[in-house]
Amino acid sequence: MNSLLSHRLDSVRPSPSMAAKQRVEGLRTAGRRVIDFTIGEPDFPTPEHITQAGVQALLSGQTRYTASAGMPALREAIAAKLSRENGLDYSPAQIVVGSGAKQVIHDALGATLNPGDEVIVPAPYWVSYPDMVALHGGRAVVVPCPPEAGFKLTAEALSRAITPRTRWLMLNTPNNPTGAVYSASELRALCEVLALHPHVWLLTDEIYEHFGYGGARHVSPLSVAPALRERALVVNGFSKAYAMTGWRVGYGAGPIELIKAIVTLLTQSTSCAASVSQVAAIAALGPDQDCVAQAARIFSERRDRMLACLATVPGFQCRPPEGAFYVFPSVQGLLGARTPEGQVLASDLDLVAYLIDAAGVACIDGSSYGMPGFLRLSFATSIEQIEAGGQAIADAVARLSLPRSLPTD
Ligand code: PLP
Repeated sequence: MNSLLSHRLDSVRPSPSMAAKQRVEGLRTAGRRVIDFTIGEPDFPTPEHITQAGVQALLSGQTRYTASAGMPALREAIAAKLSRENGLDYSPAQIVVGSGAKQVIHDALGATLNPGDEVIVPAPYWVSYPDMVALHGGRAVVVPCPPEAGFKLTAEALSRAITPRTRWLMLNTPNNPTGAVYSASELRALCEVLALHPHVWLLTDEIYEHFGYGGARHVSPLSVAPALRERALVVNGFSKAYAMTGWRVGYGAGPIELIKAIVTLLTQSTSCAASVSQVAAIAALGPDQDCVAQAARIFSERRDRMLACLATVPGFQCRPPEGAFYVFPSVQGLLGARTPEGQVLASDLDLVAYLIDAAGVACIDGSSYGMPGFLRLSFATSIEQIEAGGQAIADAVARLSLPRSLPTD
């Protein structure tokens, strides 16, 4: 019998972060207490005034299809935001609204990749980039960016990775999973390389822009290299900054030809982002931005707490993240350790399984982000959970027979 499934699916995995979320829910349903550090979303509710705008939209009958590119009022609000906050000048016609930033990235790749086209993906990367590239017949060229390089792509590594087949560079700042934030000079150096290769486009994913710590501030790559605007797509969304993950609204800004192509795909998939969510998104971009500053303050406290807790765990080596809401410690020192049951923890995946079993703590393996030997722990959860989880990890690690004696951070 012929297989039902397309060959394109052979190279695509389900999203590991969505799978981790489901695993935690399954364990909880089965009655296990789990401290969840897999969370890729703020744990607080959508701010009241945004929710109210959505409710009003429902009650006033704004419940029909909108323009596929997004409501004109939302595209105008996004254009104003990009100018105000990022120093980027786009007209509403250069903006497309999708059901989350994820859909915009997916459709941008769908609209531009031909079989065999290459996309440069610095690792650690957001789990979806390589699979979305593969889904559209492209080839992800993964460039490792080790902790010694601050988990950042250097101009030299970028130069080496570019070939005549390169179509896109995916740049994510602040970064999921490492929290790395590119400085203006680092971005300038990368953009100077891109300037030498006019066939390479830049996709800049800025969805964590508001969460920067210890003086680190987000810089939009195009604000330091405006000339690249003609071959760049700026991607952003409402999920993280406004605790709106379930509303599903994101957007892209770029040259009209690319935006039109993305809209064509949208017309044949979701037709448009949900109308009520778009109205709520307009409210999110209104004058009241206190909720964003407040979220950033809360995450900053939690980050410090998470770092303090993990600093006491032997074998966890953690670079303080400059942004986003994750820590990405190396756990290489624990690989080869033996559990009380005699199992050897050979990989970060084994350690993740051990921490669930022995500590009741869920986190995600670095392998899923293209960097084995690391873990991703989200601090988008309460201080109590962070302290309890940190202690449970420390206790579970203390029960391991370590391959050698290890310093703490
Ligand atoms: N880009 C990055 C780096 C992310 O971490 C995420 C979500 O986790 C997204 C994009 C997708 O966000 P959205 O909810 O807008 O689809």
